[in-house]
Amino acid sequence: MSPQVGSQRLPSRTALALLGLTLLAIGGNQLELSPFFGLRLQLGSIAAVFALLRYGWWGLTVGVATALVSAQLRGVPAAAIIYSLELLWLQLYLVHLNGGKRNADNGRLLLADIGYWLVVGLPLATFLFGRLATLEQTNLLTIALGQAVNSVINTTIGFTLFLAAKHWFPRLTGVKGVSIRGITMGAMLLAITIPALLITSLHSRNLQGSVEQGQFAKLGLISSTVASLRISELAELSASLPKGEQRIDIQRLDLQGNVFETAPELFRQLERNDQPAEERATQRPGLTLLLPPKKAPLTARLMEAYWLRETRIHHRHPLTPDVIIRVVEPARSTVLQLQRQSLESAALLAWVILIGSLLSEWLSRSLDGQFSKVMAPIFRHQARAGAHDPRVETSYTMPTLATSFIRELNGMVKLINNRIGRVNRLTAYLEDSNRALDASKQELELLSTTDPLTGCFNRRELMRRLNEEILRVSRQGGDLSFLCFDIDHFKAVNDTYGHPMGDAVLRSLADVVRSRLRASDCFCRSGGEEFALVLPVCDPEAARGYGELLRLSVASHTTHHNGQAVKVTLSIGIASFRPDDDADQLMARCDQALYRAKETGRDQVVVAP
Ligand code: GH3
Ligand code: MG
Ligand code: MG
Repeated sequence: MSPQVGSQRLPSRTALALLGLTLLAIGGNQLELSPFFGLRLQLGSIAAVFALLRYGWWGLTVGVATALVSAQLRGVPAAAIIYSLELLWLQLYLVHLNGGKRNADNGRLLLADIGYWLVVGLPLATFLFGRLATLEQTNLLTIALGQAVNSVINTTIGFTLFLAAKHWFPRLTGVKGVSIRGITMGAMLLAITIPALLITSLHSRNLQGSVEQGQFAKLGLISSTVASLRISELAELSASLPKGEQRIDIQRLDLQGNVFETAPELFRQLERNDQPAEERATQRPGLTLLLPPKKAPLTARLMEAYWLRETRIHHRHPLTPDVIIRVVEPARSTVLQLQRQSLESAALLAWVILIGSLLSEWLSRSLDGQFSKVMAPIFRHQARAGAHDPRVETSYTMPTLATSFIRELNGMVKLINNRIGRVNRLTAYLEDSNRALDASKQELELLSTTDPLTGCFNRRELMRRLNEEILRVSRQGGDLSFLCFDIDHFKAVNDTYGHPMGDAVLRSLADVVRSRLRASDCFCRSGGEEFALVLPVCDPEAARGYGELLRLSVASHTTHHNGQAVKVTLSIGIASFRPDDDADQLMARCDQALYRAKETGRDQVVVAP
């Protein structure tokens, strides 16, 4: 509860708010809404619960004022006692909670209210209403249960409104923060009881409708008589009768013609409360009329539940027939049927509310536990940051949030979304990097195996491929030839035309050779202006033919560069694989063949013996 309550002087704003709530409560009871048959949404009770939650003991005065008005409206003084006691019980419960430093809006207030009706309200209502009129036990219990269901629903609405006000208008309630417990509890109880109430109410309304229709059809004849006579006319009629011959009497009969017992206390009450002054003045000795009350719903219900009223005006005048007045109302059997139905509905609703409240308690408790776990870091953070508002009570299992719970939740969702966005961006970035890395790896591989100027394989790759082919041919047998060539007088090309022309010659020569290659051949630049070819499945004779082909192709090719043209020739050495050869031996024999080609005139092919 708000700490202002404890202070001695009542702040003027609080006084104004209390006055407003009292007016709303009193006015609200005059205008009670009845959305369904049997259910009364009493703005008065709702305002009283709100005031109680907001202003504590001061709020109790609003509650008592409401109860008094409500009792006056129904013509039942007992109602004031029952409703005032209910609010006192709730306030005592809240005081107890605050003493234990627990959160007042944790929803257990609703359990406390149900507890009140079970322990005090129901027995008290049964006892007090029972003294008011001679009522059947079923009817008594139905009325008392109806009061209980009504009251619990109004308390739930008042409580839920208080939570909503706390959330949306924190300045109005003075305290910020709403506990998840309270929200779950109130919302779930409402969600369970309102539809149940709607269903049972519609059901009993249908039953009442059909029963009444049958009843009225039977009583159709007499109802027309009733409509044509008012009390004043009745008085005139009785006055016109000769004195001494007039006798006006009322009998209460059921459809079978049985006379009912009267309940003198009830009739006195009805006369006091319900009879308009002018009509009371028309009373004559011996004539007592029960009028359908317009202002007192509870007494109206009691009457409707009990009486088929028949008024006979007897007189002894031989020429004037008796006047019979019957006020048509549901007869006893109908009423009993309706009572049973109402009791069943009310009992069902009471059970639904009881079980619903236990379910709500269980759900709100487990939700509370889960949220407490999730939110624990935030609470710790708030506590560290000194954000804890001393006016905010701490819940027993779930702390009330210093700022709105919904806002906290939104913040968390945003945070998580941000994180997800960041992870997505990082993932995309990683994928890009991986692709770039793959490309670099391929490029590196290419760089590590090829010669940048000519695009041929380099010496390292040459050695790898040659060793591979030697292994293969040693294992499987077959032919393998190795061919190497060197450009004749290449130094002179560089010297005469310059280094760039030398490079151009190297490139175009590589292109010419490549255009003659088979798919399985491996073409390498082994150094400077020296090249080598690994020729799998190629015997010495084929290799010689191939060498000749290359020699002629190159010799007939002209390299053009910067407007100048150059032709070069090749000296070619060839060696073929012999069993037990290793790469070095094979290459050495090939080098010797090349050397011989150079020595013996260049521009020729020499095959090692
Ligand atoms: P021969 O082989 O017929 O005996 O005479 P040569 O003039 O070709 O002999 P040598 O091996 O002495 O000369 C090789 C020349 O090749 C020397 C060097 O400047 C040149 N050379 C080596 N690599 C490159 C290169 O990448 N670009 C250019 N332009 N020249 C190169
Ligand atoms: Mg050379
Ligand atoms: Mg050379």
